[in-house]
Amino acid sequence: MVPAASARGGGMTPRLPEPAPAIPNNTWTSLSRWAALHGFEMPRRLTDSPLATYVVKSSQGSMVLAIGSREALWNGHPIHLGFDPEMVDGEVWMNGLDLAKNLQPLLCSPGFPMTDFSTLVLDPGHGGMNSGTISVLDHRPEKDFTLDLALRMKPLLEASGWRVFLTRTRDVDMSLSNRVQFAESHHADLFISLHFNSAAPDRHQSGVETYCLTPSGMPSTLTRGFADPWQENLPNNQYDALNLLLAVRLQASVVQATGEEDRGVRRARFIGVLRGQNRPAVLIEAGYLSNPAEAARIEDPRFRESLAIALASALDRSRGDRASREVSGLGTKSGSPLSP
Ligand SMILES: [Zn+2]
Repeated sequence: MVPAASARGGGMTPRLPEPAPAIPNNTWTSLSRWAALHGFEMPRRLTDSPLATYVVKSSQGSMVLAIGSREALWNGHPIHLGFDPEMVDGEVWMNGLDLAKNLQPLLCSPGFPMTDFSTLVLDPGHGGMNSGTISVLDHRPEKDFTLDLALRMKPLLEASGWRVFLTRTRDVDMSLSNRVQFAESHHADLFISLHFNSAAPDRHQSGVETYCLTPSGMPSTLTRGFADPWQENLPNNQYDALNLLLAVRLQASVVQATGEEDRGVRRARFIGVLRGQNRPAVLIEAGYLSNPAEAARIEDPRFRESLAIALASALDRSRGDRASREVSGLGTKSGSPLSP
């Protein structure tokens, strides 16, 4: 489960700052105009049913957008927008924040610059008295599976040249703010928090989600009842673009390797281990322990090994981003219909 308390950690100067927008970006722009501005083909309509759906493409991949839906598809994988695209006078209009924080990083950049980074903090969720959620099968706690996954990932990542630190290596609790401070004191370039999910008492929901911090000015995908102050500008918001690129890369690799349902890249503002990070940071929910079939897979060490390999593969510093895009099936799923 997502750790719910919030922590405002870190006041250090970020090493990879991205300039904050000079003015709040609440403008709307025609998607055709935006595409033309960037030298891309005009957006093309794919279908009118169940929702009017359009695709816009760059050399990096394709983004499928549906009128009236915050769920988009990037190279076939769901990502969650801040605002519904709208249809005005026969044209698709997008909120400026979605253009700046979702479309721009994905369509206009060459992907996550993995080789620019060398020190990684893995954060096995929960620990000690804080068990996280429990398996619907036999009540085994989430904290055991997150630690096992991190311990499996560490040697794989070290083999590809990462310095890897775990926020915990045994069954102890650690506050969320201490996890942020741990990353700070270990000079982490990246932070990845590992979790398993629950929708109890629902036993059907399944799949993998990756979270990053919601950009300032945008509503979150998930609030879990917490306040979601849109204008809040948090330390980790300086990494909005890199957070998204990292999340997309990890999510695609896990879904591809495990065949788990793809619940996409989502945004949340209340996640304590992300808010204060002075580095790209994401949180992965690698399956639902409240779903009996998925819980059985998570409890199987072979599945956790495949998760570890998929995550380490996405983080492989020797391959660059192009290899990751090939893994994610770039170009093979363009035109996939959006689910309503
Ligand atoms: Zn958790």
